[in-house]
Amino acid sequence: MHDEERFVRMLINSEKPVQLVIAGKAPPYDEACKALIKEWTQFIQRHNLYKHVVFLSDYDMLLTENMVQGVDVWINTPRRPWEACGTSGMKVLVNGGINVSELDGWWAEAYTPEVGWAIGDMQDHGDDPGSDSVEAEALYTILEEQVIPAFYERNATGIPVKWVEKIRNSMAKLTPRFSANRTVREYSEKYYLPAAERYLQRAADNGTVGKKIINAKHELENNWSGINFRDVQMENTESGFSCNANIFLNSIDINNVLVELYAEETAKDNAERVIMQLQSSKDDEKLYKGNVQTTRPMCDYTIRIIPMDNNISVPLENSCILWQR
Ligand SMILES: *Cc1c(COP(=O)(O)O)cnc(C)c1O
Repeated sequence: MHDEERFVRMLINSEKPVQLVIAGKAPPYDEACKALIKEWTQFIQRHNLYKHVVFLSDYDMLLTENMVQGVDVWINTPRRPWEACGTSGMKVLVNGGINVSELDGWWAEAYTPEVGWAIGDMQDHGDDPGSDSVEAEALYTILEEQVIPAFYERNATGIPVKWVEKIRNSMAKLTPRFSANRTVREYSEKYYLPAAERYLQRAADNGTVGKKIINAKHELENNWSGINFRDVQMENTESGFSCNANIFLNSIDINNVLVELYAEETAKDNAERVIMQLQSSKDDEKLYKGNVQTTRPMCDYTIRIIPMDNNISVPLENSCILWQR
């Protein structure tokens, strides 16, 4: 409703008319949302748009089911970054609808020009009214110049060829990724099944492994504040660098920790972890050595000490991590 005249002209165009179906729910305490719904109903009345715009109340799963099966285009225009996900756009995919949405939530990941249309510049603009109007104008322009013409363009046998191509691209490229099948399979394979396996290992023999894990965790937590880095030396080598680190382990068992060199992911490099090996030991002072084959500069790498024990998940199950400063 940013530019009512332009919007009404688009809706009531005699050759290429448009119908807009709106649904949504205002929580009882959300006055701004209730006011918006009121604005819509008044807008419909003011311009006598009963044939072109309808607001469906009591949005629920049955209503959604009908909408996602019935519409040609799904429009979702949240202000970034408020779209948590946008599952309704995914429901439209499998029903052969096409998305026109803000580049936020799933659409920021899924959009390419061949599968639908997008507004927004991938930046957050808060509630800046200037950005709202830029995006409103962009939405009108996309609808007027691209979406509506493509919908009405037919070949000799009455088929909207470009439209159908977009539906096919959208279904073929997006439904395998944005689906509960993929999600549940991936969670099961990556997380639930390995977690179930770990549980069985730990619970076996009256929880032998489980008890060991708890004891090691207590040992680490009780002594962690006392451990520190002593002398650390790094030297360039032909293929990277080597590193010697003296570490005071404060009576922690060497078998319960891992000392490694860690480099963060950057635009051109993956994250890297190189495990350092224990070289010698004098009381609680341990010398660890690492040889890193890399083209990255050694300042990208930081030594850290992390828990290591019977496949525990770090930092989920034990978040003791000491970084070299
Ligand atoms: C899908 C659905 C939603 C969630 O929609 P989003 O686009 O993810 O915000 C909310 N309510 C109902 C009834 C739905 O079917």
